[in-house]
Amino acid sequence: MNKGFIRKLAYNKMGIEGGAPLRRAVFSDRWLHSSVVHITIFDGGYFQMSNARRQNYISVHGIKVYGVEVDHQTRCKHYHSNVDIIAIRFPCCDAYHPCYECHKEVADHPVARWSKDQTDEKAILCGACGHQLTIHEYLTHKSACSACNANFNAGCRAHYHLYFDL
Ligand SMILES: [Zn+2]
Ligand SMILES: [Zn+2]
Ligand SMILES: [Zn+2]
Repeated sequence: MNKGFIRKLAYNKMGIEGGAPLRRAVFSDRWLHSSVVHITIFDGGYFQMSNARRQNYISVHGIKVYGVEVDHQTRCKHYHSNVDIIAIRFPCCDAYHPCYECHKEVADHPVARWSKDQTDEKAILCGACGHQLTIHEYLTHKSACSACNANFNAGCRAHYHLYFDL
């Protein structure tokens, strides 16, 4: 990565000259391959970019998944065993998150749950293959992907009430 270019970009976007006092900024830039970049500017023009952990979404099979420490198969800071490979789309924000804790940490609103008449909605993302299951498919498919058969965490069942109001 061309650090000089990023530095110029950062300064231009924030409209400040070199030698600015300590300050932080968040801005978007497609060129940096992630939409949210946290940059801390230190006195004298030195700056530091955030690592991936600070980013609040990643693209999983082309779909944005929001959360904390999300990996390329939708595991997160809270649930990261080998079978924790689904994300759920929340009806409040229409955005996929690996779990309710992730929603709590990155969303700015209370969570809403899917209701009985919405079970045909595609709301579960398989982190293994990118297939989006309907709620009905997910609830009837015995903790596995209906497309690639990857196993999902059967223990998620204990948390259904947090996601579904059925
Ligand atoms: Zn939401
Ligand atoms: Zn999580
Ligand atoms: Zn799958």
